[in-house]
Amino acid sequence: MISSGDRQRLAENWQAVCDEVATAVTSAGRSPSSVCIVGVSKYVGPELTAALAQVGCRNLGESRPQLLWSKAEALKQLLPDHDIRWHLIGHLQRNKIRRTMSLPVLVHSVDAARLLAAIDQDAASQDQSLVHDVLLEVNVSGETAKTGMTPSEIRELLAQPRAEHVRIIGLMAMAGWGTSSAEARQQFATVRELRDSLQTEFAIELPQLSMGMSGDFVEAIAEGATLVRIGSRLFDGLLIS
Ligand SMILES: *Cc1c(COP(=O)(O)O)cnc(C)c1O
Repeated sequence: MISSGDRQRLAENWQAVCDEVATAVTSAGRSPSSVCIVGVSKYVGPELTAALAQVGCRNLGESRPQLLWSKAEALKQLLPDHDIRWHLIGHLQRNKIRRTMSLPVLVHSVDAARLLAAIDQDAASQDQSLVHDVLLEVNVSGETAKTGMTPSEIRELLAQPRAEHVRIIGLMAMAGWGTSSAEARQQFATVRELRDSLQTEFAIELPQLSMGMSGDFVEAIAEGATLVRIGSRLFDGLLIS
């Protein structure tokens, strides 16, 4: 059970994050509805995840497919009438595609052409009318430990014939570990510029930019993020075992 104190704290954290996002969106001269907050629930169990949805965070992100499966199942029980929109924000192994792809509204983390092809093939085998929305994860910080494709790998992928059952609607990126806020902002600007070039080069629309986490969402919003993935800030002050 979640204490009423924890529930209260969670509601306050959610409100504070909403306010800060709204302020960042306004100072960037953007429209308030142009940024969606994805609450990253990977740090907590099903009950706190359900509580987060109840205080108003309807877009929830999980980074591991197995945890997405079990959370989605648990939340069906805990909140039968929920309208949660799940996002997969971490690496998807090809052998987990079948079980995963019916759950998220968006996969942020397509990090290889092989994965995209496998998602496409699996969808085709399920239902000819199925189309999954995905983002391509780009590595802009250049660290070898980070996942994501280089800009040239992304160009190679986009030069291939379009997958019929996958719609690429944008890019996702993480700032490098330990970057200053100025460096993070520069990396987010690089992602936006890459998106702009790709739209022209390939004559496609890539409206979504998933970038910004607890420590750098203000910078990401200033550079055009449409989806911010916020985890730890939402659970500040809560005792998480
Ligand atoms: C964990 C995680 C987040 C959330 O990070 P916080 O710093 O806790 O807000 C965002 N994106 C991805 C891909 C993650 O794995």
